[in-house]
Amino acid sequence: MTKILIIYTGGTIGMMTDPKTKTLKPINFEQIMDNVPELERLNCQIEVRSFDDIIDSSNMNPDIWSELAGIVEKYYDRVDGFVILHGSDTMSFTASALSFMFENLAKPVIFTGSQLPISAIRTDAKENLMTAIEIASSMKEGRALVPEVGIYFDYKLFRGNRSFKYNSSKFEAFRSPNYPVLVESGVHLRFSENYILKPKNEPFKAHKNLVNDIAVLKLYPGISPKVVDAILNADARGIVMETFGAGNTTTDAWFIDCLKKAIDNGKVILDISQCKVGTVELGRYETSKQLKDMGIANGYDMTYEAAITKMMYVLGQEQDPIKVARLLETDLRGELTWY
Ligand code: ASP
Repeated sequence: MTKILIIYTGGTIGMMTDPKTKTLKPINFEQIMDNVPELERLNCQIEVRSFDDIIDSSNMNPDIWSELAGIVEKYYDRVDGFVILHGSDTMSFTASALSFMFENLAKPVIFTGSQLPISAIRTDAKENLMTAIEIASSMKEGRALVPEVGIYFDYKLFRGNRSFKYNSSKFEAFRSPNYPVLVESGVHLRFSENYILKPKNEPFKAHKNLVNDIAVLKLYPGISPKVVDAILNADARGIVMETFGAGNTTTDAWFIDCLKKAIDNGKVILDISQCKVGTVELGRYETSKQLKDMGIANGYDMTYEAAITKMMYVLGQEQDPIKVARLLETDLRGELTWY
């Protein structure tokens, strides 16, 4: 029998409508179990760890990511896989963060949640929970079939650091525009083994040090020098810059000067695109050639969620801005594709 640890952090899956205020409020895991008697019939041994403070995932933060990573580290040798119940709002950030924090992961860490509470008649929670457990416990020749941090939602498993929350009303809450689905659930579970990461035969390590000294510069036509200046001069070591198309920005001299000054001051700037599909190609257009020349890091096809959490992880590993920039451009956990 495989052993699975369920870590319950909160989210709609474990919420009920408060009769007085009419808002959705968290319930405890025993109340969740009462709604899913089928859990008893699964062919695996389940252990549960509940957070003391059950949260809406909008309250997620890097300290809680470190706590989560610590729980996985503690149970790593004792169980075959993990299922993390988490609100969908920031699930892609948490899954991305953990993917970077876990080096040489060889066991499944499957996030799931739901759009409707588990007690609702039309809930999507039961299917999401049962199949997430099934995926986390799937083995082939004694090895986990999905040794990755993934998000299972609405019949699909995505690589966590390739996903983003795309829809707040549909059961299809997530998408992974630049990487294929890892597992599709229908009458059978279809594992796309070619797309699933192969673990290295090295010891697992949880890096719990994240640095949140970062700022985001999202461009728009007409952005003013004072706004750009304020963001680039904020007390932050790393800046995630959301650019146009294939990584392009205005070529106005004041803008280029601001970026150059920030880099001279030791800041690291990571260029990701506002487009959800496709990749940054620094140097393809005249409007990105100077960015490449001044040492801005190419974010390729990384999601915003992956870019933010990778920056936090890499800043926690490296001090030298040039090394930070090179690591940001490197594929660490299957989060980017070089073209
Ligand atoms: N607000 C909820 C959360 O992220 C939404 C959900 O669970 O889907 O915790």
